[in-house]
Amino acid sequence: SVTDPERLREIVEEICDAMTAETERGRVADYIPQLADVDPDQFALALVLPDGAVIAGGDADTRFSIQSVSKVFALAVALGRVGDALWNRVGREPSGDPFNSIVQLEHERGIPRNPFINAGAIAVTDAILARSEPREALGQILQFVRFLAGDDDIAIDPAVAKSETASGWRNAALANFMRDFGTIQRHPDKVLGTYFHQCAIAMTARQLAHAGRFLAFDGSLSPGGSRAIAPRMARQINALMLTCGHYDGSGEFAFRVGLPGKSGVGGGILAVAPGRAAIACWSPGLNAVGNSHLASIALEMLADRTGWSVFAAN
Ligand code: GLN
Repeated sequence: SVTDPERLREIVEEICDAMTAETERGRVADYIPQLADVDPDQFALALVLPDGAVIAGGDADTRFSIQSVSKVFALAVALGRVGDALWNRVGREPSGDPFNSIVQLEHERGIPRNPFINAGAIAVTDAILARSEPREALGQILQFVRFLAGDDDIAIDPAVAKSETASGWRNAALANFMRDFGTIQRHPDKVLGTYFHQCAIAMTARQLAHAGRFLAFDGSLSPGGSRAIAPRMARQINALMLTCGHYDGSGEFAFRVGLPGKSGVGGGILAVAPGRAAIACWSPGLNAVGNSHLASIALEMLADRTGWSVFAAN
């Protein structure tokens, strides 16, 4: 597989040129009013290599709403807090249903199928809230992301959080339903407020790629560098990203890209090439299952051209 930074730079440039020329860009999420206003005509790709070198192209310094990519960071915080007890309230199987689906919750007695669909992420946030109030919990998630990225200039966009608080009826239904089953213990309003704010973290592709290093390097910020989480936990999170990171498009993403990835309705995807790179890709237009249309294509091109894959021999 490709490791030469010069060659990688050419590949990133080629992909950025190809994506800028694409006319089909998907549709920007409009169920969160604040996201409906984002210009779809944007694209970014950023890689962070083992030595910390960054290869970035397109709008890699433009902030976007990371939305469900935050579920990865919240999961790491929750596992650090409560450990394997987290799995008493959330499963580890792909759902095959849309990100905001409620149907399986009733069949499985209020236990969401995995931590990367909305119901599962809301349950994870409730686990973090078991020992802290919303402000404190949010501070912990944000501090963790800043630490991972090595960048304090990362913040929550209050307008996006407010916009979703005013329109997130489906998530309110999920939270209330789970509260009734006892899957979540805090008041649904508290859990939702925290969840909406965590989703409203805004970052650039460059920052997001840095924040993803811990998954590419066995839980550390670089090979042999400072430890963020245990290697076993990094392996588990990567496995969940591969099987559940793109909702009912997870099988398709694994088939096309062959790397763990987590998408968000802001159009971001964090992908992981273990030992090779942490990758952030962003373009706001979404495909039919709510994953970035261009970022999915771009990551497939990147995997094809680099040979990076969790299924490849080298
Ligand atoms: N905040 C969004 C929601 O709960 C996140 C969904 C997503 O990014 N897929 O609907």
